[in-house]
Parts: sequence; C-alpha cells; structure tokens
Amino acid sequence: MENNLSGFEELGLPRQYLNAIEEMGYTIPTPVQQKAIPIIRSGQHVIGIAQTGTGKTAAYLLPVMQNLKFAQGELPRAVILVPTKELVLQVLEQVQLLGKYTDLRSVGLYGGVGRKKQAETARAGVDIVVSTPMRLLELYQEEGLDLKKIQVFILDEADRMLDMGFRPQLNAILDVLPRKKQNMMFSATFSGIVEELSWDFMDFPFKIEITPEATPVETVDQQSYSVPNFQTKLNLLEYLMRNTEMSRVMVFVKSKTTANRIFEYLQIHRLKGEMRLIHSNKGQNTRINAFNDFKEGSVRLLISTDVMARGIDVTEVTHVVNFDVPTVYEDYVHRIGRTGRAWCTGTAITFVTKSDQYHIKQIEQKIRMPIPVLDMPADVVIAETPFEENQDMEREIDIQKKKDDPDFKGAFHEKKDYKIKQKQKAGKRIPKFSGKSKSIITKTVKTGQKTSKHNRKKG
Ligand code: AMP
Repeated sequence: MENNLSGFEELGLPRQYLNAIEEMGYTIPTPVQQKAIPIIRSGQHVIGIAQTGTGKTAAYLLPVMQNLKFAQGELPRAVILVPTKELVLQVLEQVQLLGKYTDLRSVGLYGGVGRKKQAETARAGVDIVVSTPMRLLELYQEEGLDLKKIQVFILDEADRMLDMGFRPQLNAILDVLPRKKQNMMFSATFSGIVEELSWDFMDFPFKIEITPEATPVETVDQQSYSVPNFQTKLNLLEYLMRNTEMSRVMVFVKSKTTANRIFEYLQIHRLKGEMRLIHSNKGQNTRINAFNDFKEGSVRLLISTDVMARGIDVTEVTHVVNFDVPTVYEDYVHRIGRTGRAWCTGTAITFVTKSDQYHIKQIEQKIRMPIPVLDMPADVVIAETPFEENQDMEREIDIQKKKDDPDFKGAFHEKKDYKIKQKQKAGKRIPKFSGKSKSIITKTVKTGQKTSKHNRKKG
C-alpha cells in the first residue's frame, strides 16, 4: 500500500492532494496520469488520446489544480468543456473530491436550469468552471460571464463534441478566450477532424497516446451472439438477465422506441431488480436520478441510447449489452468503455443480426481484434423473423453492398421479385402503384381482372 501510494508521491503532488487521492481509493497512478501530470504541470499544451476509463480526468485535474494553487480573485482561471450535463456533473464531482483539502472554488454550468442562478454562483468568485459549450456561450453572451482571466483551457471528449455538432460553439468560445493560455484537448480517438480542431487553438502540443486509437480497454471480455431478429434479441436479453452475475448492466440501443420496447418487455417478464431508461425524451431530472441510482447500485439495469452513453461514468459495470450494433464505429469503443473501467474487469455482449455483419467487420478492423461469437443458449426461443423485418434487413444489406460496389444491382429486388412470383403462384393479390393516376391498382392474378381502388369503391 505504502509503495503504491508513493506512486502518486513520486508525481510530486502536495500532501493535500495525496490525502484526497487516498480517500478516493486510488492507489496507483494510471498510465495516463503518470505521463500527463508532469507535462501538464510544466505548462505545455497537451493532446491526450485516452479513452474514458483510463483515469484521464484526474490526469488533467491534478496538475491544473496544483498550478492554480489556491482560491484567488473572482474570475475563473480554468475552464473545462465537456459535451453533456452528466459529464459536467462527473468532472465537477472529481474536482470537488480531489480539491477537498484545498480552498479552490468550482462551478458546473449546463443547460436545462436557470441561467441567472448559475451566473450568480460564477460571479460570487470561482476558480474552475466545468461547462457544456452551449451554456458557457450563453452565460458569456447574455449574463456577462467574464472569461478574460482564463489561463487554462481543457477540451474534454473532443471527438464526441464534434460528433454532436458543437464546432460552431467551440469556435465562438475560442474567439473570446485569452490567446495566451495553456490549452489541452482529450479525445478517445484522433480522427482527421479532431486533429484539425487541435490546429485551431494549439501550437506545438505534446501528444500523449495511451492506447492505440480505438482499442478497447484490455480488461473487457468481448462476446457476441448471432441473432436472427428483434424478438429473439428480447428473448436472449431476458435469458441473459436471469444470470445473477449480471448485477450492473447497461444496455445500449439505437433508438428511443427500441429502448421503450425492451423496457416494457422486461417489465412484463418480471425482471429481477430495478431497471431504468435514459433517452432524450426523458426529462433531465429523470435522467440524472436514473443515472445516480444506477451509480449507487440500487438499479440493476440501465437502458440507454447512444447520445446518453458518453455521459455515463460508473465503475464496476459488470456487463454492457449492445442490443443494436452501433453504426458509428467509435461508439462501440465508447459503449464497451463503460465496463472494465480503471482496474475492474467487465463483459461486453453484442447482438448481431445478418444486416449487422457488415458493421461488425468494420468494428473488428477498427479495434484490430475479432469479437468472439458464442453459441446461442439452447433455452432461448428463436422467434420467426416477420416479413417486414426481414425486408428491412435485406434492404440494409443491399445498401451496404452498394457502398462497397456501386455496380451492385441489389439482391433485395431480386428477392422481392421472387416473393412476388411466389405470391402470384399462390393466386394472391399483388398491390401495384400506378405513377400516372396515383390510384392503387390491384391485379387479381388468377383472373387477370384489373380494378382501380376508385372503381372498387364505386362498384
Ligand atoms: P476517467 O477515465 O477519468 O473517466 O476515470 C475513470 C474512473 O477511474 C473514474 O471513476 C475514476 O474515479 C477512476 N480512477 C481514476 N484514477 C484512478 C486511479 N489511479 N486508481 C483507481 N481508479 C481511478
């Protein structure tokens, strides 16, 4: 223990921080902390390529707080931008825990609550501001928040900020911050647009790369199941959740509708333990409460859409379930990053339909490793794929094939023709769309008799 603690001592942190770190239960500095702390303390600009879960927040907070020393003046001296309210609260929590034995003052700024009150708190004297881009701009433009004393600027989750379309707000903020300051940018991935953004506000930054780009944290056990359709996904999830080892589970889905359907299904099937939903239709308070309850451990299952995924910082998530394969491939890394965080191991399970195969291959290339496929458990009922759902998947596969080969004609249409022929054989009515008259023509195949909808009504 003493040896481990000296890890942080060797980083030259003052006693008040060492005490706080000990109380937070950190014993060994993580690799990003070991590398970043001395460099940031020396005042250099830094680009940190590190995923969530690597301890990057403390890696930038500790040296920044150490450099700010103690409460001083009324205007903020450091600003940390993060993409979501949830993340503002998490970073702020770390500022407050790490700064427990200092007099540094901090405030969190985010949308959805009164601007005036936040502006008042900020004006009452503050050293560190943690904010979403939008709210910082609003307070600057409309409430006169004074940013001229900013010495340190940190852009966290830069890739996500750009994904979420915050580029205009970032430009506006960069324009109003003092030119002379220490700049830092943290991002899970270092794509072209992230690099471009860094050119806009950083000269000769020191680049710290913790893991190769988009490599999932090594502690995550990745698994996948080949699943034919939505209903079987529900059956499989319900089956997996019977395992009590799945005690703190996040399920990621692509849409609010899917999230609601899973929730209802598991409710009907009397899932053991509490479950909650987080998506953008839920009020901010509901989202925060769900998140806090999950964090405390009173909620077993949290179902979330991707947009919300980034804001979640929970340790000891036992399992992440990708109910839908993400089509933004970085999201796979972000999603599974919820588990296996800072020294904890976890499992990430992905459900893969036939139209997801294409995306899974792309993800495997990105993470530079295969995702093992497990056999479907014998107890899981394999539902039949409804016609519509199958068509949607075939259409999706066609689109994917066309992406790779623009000359590809599309098997879906061939299959559709085949289906029509089958129906014709069975003497079924095939609806047709007549472009000219815009009336629906139905052809009764057996008799060859044609009737327009209009005529049928009349007759
Ligand atoms: P982050 O990558 O900053 O989101 O941190 C991920 C999680 O790791 C947070 O819950 C931190 O509290 C935790 N953490 C950060 N540094 C350490 C450390 N040195 N030892 C153990 N846990 C840590």
